[in-house]
Amino acid sequence: MADHKFTMTINGKAVAGTETFGVENPATGEVFAQAPDCSKAELDAAVAAARDAFPAWKATPIARRRELLNVMAGIIMQNVPELSRLLTREQGKPHPDAEGDVGGGAFWLMESSRHEIPEHVSEDSAERHAVTRYGPIGVVAAIVPWNFPVILAAFKLGPALLAGNTVVLKPAPTTPLTTLRIGELLRGVLPDGVLNVVSGSDRLGPWLTAHKGIDKVSFTGSTQTGKKVMESAAGSLKRVTLELGGNDPAIVMPDVDVKKVAEDLFWAAFRNTGQICIATKRMYIHKDIYEPLKAAIVEYAKTVKIGDGAEQGTQIGPIQNSAQYKRVLELIQDARDNGYTFLIGGEASKVPGYFVPITILDNPPESARIVQEEQFGPVLPLLKFDNLDEVIGRANDSEYGLGASIWSSDIDRAQDIATRLQAGTVWINESQHLSPHAAFGGFKQSGIGVEGGPEGVLEFCQAQTVFTRKSATA
Ligand code: NAD
Repeated sequence: MADHKFTMTINGKAVAGTETFGVENPATGEVFAQAPDCSKAELDAAVAAARDAFPAWKATPIARRRELLNVMAGIIMQNVPELSRLLTREQGKPHPDAEGDVGGGAFWLMESSRHEIPEHVSEDSAERHAVTRYGPIGVVAAIVPWNFPVILAAFKLGPALLAGNTVVLKPAPTTPLTTLRIGELLRGVLPDGVLNVVSGSDRLGPWLTAHKGIDKVSFTGSTQTGKKVMESAAGSLKRVTLELGGNDPAIVMPDVDVKKVAEDLFWAAFRNTGQICIATKRMYIHKDIYEPLKAAIVEYAKTVKIGDGAEQGTQIGPIQNSAQYKRVLELIQDARDNGYTFLIGGEASKVPGYFVPITILDNPPESARIVQEEQFGPVLPLLKFDNLDEVIGRANDSEYGLGASIWSSDIDRAQDIATRLQAGTVWINESQHLSPHAAFGGFKQSGIGVEGGPEGVLEFCQAQTVFTRKSATA
């Protein structure tokens, strides 16, 4: 794929773009491909195509829209080998994880096709009939970050298209290629203009959210950018769904089997190099098991292979891009400057590429930046707690509220703790599991609205109530 000329998909046609920008392999730092840098005129064309395609797509029977989502899923599945190799190259993740991202995206499209769009009759009396129906909103801007480019795009595409909206999809500037390639492979499946894929540098996102031809912005990314998106969408009162950052706590109760949970807890924090919105970013461990569990996690960490995601056996790849790499190193430096104890890691890697070793900190203070901020990298603070009320207070004391996990052999007690946590998703004895059939969203500054489940489909719908008077009409 290295010499492939990646193109945007606008109105069903290939658009090479008048300008391009380089895409790096984060494992080497080398630019290996060019992506189109969408101009304003090209964006206008994409939005216009989506607007033109909207009436016919809205009028297409939902059964046909379901069918086409399944065709899209099938094409992506057939191309998992090519797409996942490309994804590893631009994103850095180990090849099996890239297969999971691409295959997961296809699965999400397929499962999204099963959702029903509800209709609610609130009155059917002698006098009146009242029904609320849910129709599409119009043109959706789907904006995706770089950590899971395919599956996070599918979170939006599936329900948006099912509900009858048309879409302009924008991947992150550092991971545009797999998404562009999917756009190319899907050309001709949907009517022209229903799905447009555009790529660009940092200027493109703000253009898209401010564009008058967009009716709804479905955004996944950082809380900081989410605020800008909301501000920009306010101009024409666009609908917004914001899936933002997190600082997920894990609460590990003293009744766990230390040996059994150590590996799961490790991956809760370090999968995808820690670059997951719902990664465990603060691990609270009860004082009675703190020392043995700490030792077991560090022992396991020593066995994990970091490297180029394209190499067989790699379990953790590089950080995805230079900006994030610098941010993670800055947090490590802050921990060093403050004299916190490193159990493992903490050194910048000497090899080329954006590699940061697995870094685990021993009980830094709650006020530490690494505890308070979203690290989004392979750095984890282990934190000691004494009692339940205290740890729930610490877990909730955050501007974020995306996910949380509880590890305990007492399920009833864990269920009770879940109700006291300010988090959109709570896992008991697991982490990061999501379903296309369950609502996923954040409390507080982790977002507005949800993806997944019937509620997620309604985020792409406009409610319309029709009252019909049954008595005399004249
Ligand atoms: P980011 O906010 O920098 O970028 C996300 C996307 O927004 C990219 O496509 C980017 O080009 C675009 N963008 C940037 N500035 C914009 C602007 N002013 N207007 C419109 N679009 C703009 O986020 P990131 O660094 O790519 O991703 C990491 C963040 O995403 C983390 O905070 C992570 O927790 C969060 N995230 C959240 C979820 C979730 O579902 N809640 C999932 C994955 C990642």
